[in-house]
Formats: sequence, structure tokens, C-alpha cells
Amino acid sequence: VVVIEDEASIAGAVAARLRSEGFRVEIAGDGPAGVTLCHDLRPDLVILDLMLPGLDGLEVCRRVQKDRPVPVLMLTARDSETDMLVGLAVGADDYMSKPFSPRELVARVHVILRRMERTLVFPGTGQAQAGVLKVGDVELDLSSRRVRRGGEEVHLTPTEFDLLSWLASHPDAVASREQLLHQVWGYRDGSGARTVDSHIRSLRRKLGPDIVRTVHGVGYAVDHRNFDAP
Ligand code: CA
Repeated sequence: VVVIEDEASIAGAVAARLRSEGFRVEIAGDGPAGVTLCHDLRPDLVILDLMLPGLDGLEVCRRVQKDRPVPVLMLTARDSETDMLVGLAVGADDYMSKPFSPRELVARVHVILRRMERTLVFPGTGQAQAGVLKVGDVELDLSSRRVRRGGEEVHLTPTEFDLLSWLASHPDAVASREQLLHQVWGYRDGSGARTVDSHIRSLRRKLGPDIVRTVHGVGYAVDHRNFDAP
């Protein structure tokens, strides 16, 4: 895990807690050092503070994700900053506002990593997914986790990929935000609806507004007329 945080006391507390759980942790104290550290270490997860000297968290998130898909847990100073980030659809997998409990942070880290390791399975069959799902002109290759739109490769973050493949594997089902948090993020308490909205917005920005349909008052769906089975 790479922790990019300029407040040494917070960085130290987060690192100590994660190390006590058995994680290997490295700390960077500013944006450019964080980008370099991620490039060198290829971490499984990045914990990233929004307000950083050098480069802010948004730019660091962009650069780190450009290298290769890696889950990012973003730390913000206030709830209002989280709202702003969700609006921008920056490609973080989750957000926590300060102050947070180290225990809650570790719980989120476990959830994110578990989700990364879990192989998506077809509902009812228990078989690992393989092949290509098509949604309109978008192709999702489930084994290589690559995405193409009209033949052009599009970069999705790991969570964006999981979210879209889950929706595309359940054509016509309308999923509530709570259901998606449970199925895709592995959260059981239903908090974090804003995180779902952020990822949907980001998918639409990258793959076109029709990729996912909003069912007002209920949730989100991929239309069956948009969908070809593998
Ligand atoms: Ca800071």
C-alpha cells in the first residue's frame, strides 16, 4: 500500500495501523514523490490525500491511474470536498473524510482488496466469467479486463470495470445503489451511495451517456436492447 499524505501524523497513524494488519506500507509526503513511488512499487492500493503540496490529489490520481489500473482510496478534509470530487468523477474507488477512525479505514482497505481479488462469477452457475460482454459499441473482455469502444481501447479504473461488468451481466435488472454497493463494493451497510453515482458518471463520460440508464427513484440498469451475450 502506498500512502500519499503530507500530514506526517496522519500518514504515520495510517501506516502503523495497516502494518499491524500485515500490509507492507510506504509513505510519500507530496504529490510528485507519490507518483514516483507508485511507478516504482506498483502497489495494490493507494491511499491518497486530496490537498497535497506539489501536485494535488486529483492530478496524482490521474497520473497514477494512467500508468495502470490501481484502486485509490481518497482522503478529504471535509464532506463538502467529497461531494465536489464525486461530482468530478475523478476515478477514486472510495472516499473518506477526515477525521476518520483507523479501524474504519482498514475495513475499507480490506473490502477494496477483497473485491479486486474476487473473480466475477455468472449468477447461478458459480463459473468464472470469460469471454466478451457487449453493450452497444462497447466491448468488455472479462479475462483481460480490457475495454474497447468502437474498436478503440478505453481505460477504466478497476471499480469502473467491475461496476459495468456487473450491470452488463444482469441485463434488464434494475439495481439500486445499495444493491450495487453490496455486489460490486462488498459493503453491507449501504453507506456510500455517492460513490456509486460518481462511478456511473465517470462511465458515462468515458463510454457515452447511454452506457447505463438511470431508473429514477430506483437505480441503474443496462438495457437488454443494448446487450449481446458472449
Ligand atoms: Ca494534506
